[in-house]
Amino acid sequence: MTATATAWQLDRPGPATDDGPLRRVVLEPPDPAPGEVLVEVHACAVCRTDLQLVEGDLAVRRQPVVPGHQVVGTVVGHGPGVTEPAVGTRVGLAWIAGTCGRCRFCRTGRENLCEDARFTGWDRDGGYATHVTARADFTHPLPDGFDDLDAAPLLCGGVIGYRSLGVAGVGAHSAGTTLGLYGFGASATCVIQVARHWGVEVHVCTRSEREQRAALDLGAAWAGGYDERPPVALDAAITFAPSGDVVVAALQALDRGGVVAINAIHLDRVPELAYDDLWWERSLRSVANVTRTDVREFLALAAEIPVRTRTEVLPLESANTALRRLAAGDVGGSFVLAVDHS
Ligand SMILES: [Zn+2]
Ligand SMILES: [Zn+2]
Repeated sequence: MTATATAWQLDRPGPATDDGPLRRVVLEPPDPAPGEVLVEVHACAVCRTDLQLVEGDLAVRRQPVVPGHQVVGTVVGHGPGVTEPAVGTRVGLAWIAGTCGRCRFCRTGRENLCEDARFTGWDRDGGYATHVTARADFTHPLPDGFDDLDAAPLLCGGVIGYRSLGVAGVGAHSAGTTLGLYGFGASATCVIQVARHWGVEVHVCTRSEREQRAALDLGAAWAGGYDERPPVALDAAITFAPSGDVVVAALQALDRGGVVAINAIHLDRVPELAYDDLWWERSLRSVANVTRTDVREFLALAAEIPVRTRTEVLPLESANTALRRLAAGDVGGSFVLAVDHS
């Protein structure tokens, strides 16, 4: 373990530039509290939610705070009362950092709905750092099969995409059914690989022709624009675009009994619907956060398939630049911040 740690802190939200608003601080590695582990960070992927926090679109809950919730590292220390995961274990940290464990949601496998949930890089310091502490029971031992840089982007977009599949009723039993994906960013790129692995026929609507081609390359049966209707009625659809109009387009493309899962924290609005669009037991559901079970199931599946992501690696020192480029749309995949401990 190094004697010092560095972290990129957010003191006050502001526009992402090459010089801010994150500030580099050098400090002692944090002490893990009872029930926590200390993790030496190898890689942290950059999520759009980090940008929303940094620029002030997501209210700051703690100041200063270190962003980053797609963290891969090695356990290097234990707080009081902790024995697992063992020192030396490679682990991932995801968005969900802690829940109460007592409420009716936590007790029924729905900890993603816990009203007392805590989140990595928002309620507690995250992975834009050389070291981070985490609740031991909210770390996820990583399967072999992908290296640190490839695993990091799976920990948010991949996991929430996997949960969206479940909310939409799509699983290993769904071979031969049809699924629509509306929007084709990092999360949808993971979803299509899982759905194809299960034998699901996937149709993709997205504005970008480059993304349409990427979808076809990953096995989509059809790809078109948001204003186009897939050539078959859909058993399920997942929307990623933060637009109510896209939700309605997905609903109108459903077969009887179909489900639309909305994978967006914010939606501009839900437009007025014709009841005919919802009739025949069609349904509309939102997807909120993830559970630890989602993280672990998805990581095991992603290693087995294996799910591939497109990444651009930058050093941790370029955290502000990664956010600035994400804001500008200057990214072809996911940014991953690599931490050099030498
Ligand atoms: Zn995220
Ligand atoms: Zn709870």
